Amino acid sequence: MNIQMDKALKKIQNNIANFIKSIDEELSISFNNGEGYYFETETNTVNVDLTDLEDCGFMRHLKEIHKCSFAYDYPLFIWSILHEIGHYETEWELLEDDDEAELRFWLSLTDENCRDNIEIQNKYYGLTAEWEATEWAIQWIKENKDELKKLVI
Ligand SMILES: [Zn+2]
Repeated sequence: MNIQMDKALKKIQNNIANFIKSIDEELSISFNNGEGYYFETETNTVNVDLTDLEDCGFMRHLKEIHKCSFAYDYPLFIWSILHEIGHYETEWELLEDDDEAELRFWLSLTDENCRDNIEIQNKYYGLTAEWEATEWAIQWIKENKDELKKLVI
């Protein structure tokens, strides 16, 4: 990677880190390449994937099932960060049943043959913890459009 690009990437990472901290100081940030977006409950860490993110039907679900009218006004990457923060902010402990279902549906979702399966997508994103995290993200954007503009533009 050349120096200019390295500098730009560091600046973007810094902005994302500051953005996440500005929402909640308790949160930490970790960047990865290709491991996806996820929340680590032990360390309150939002893991941000710097590679291309696969949709897996999230945007469709956001628009059609959550009825979010501004879903496509923001990129999947923004939604993913806010959704992961939402896991922390909603403090929904995964119910035991959900836990197993979560794993099962997540594995189905990441299975190449099932990625386009809308039924599996809806089941996964409809799990209590997933649903609440997404609802938190929607609400946060509604209340903080100006904050978000600073990050996106
Ligand atoms: Zn989630």
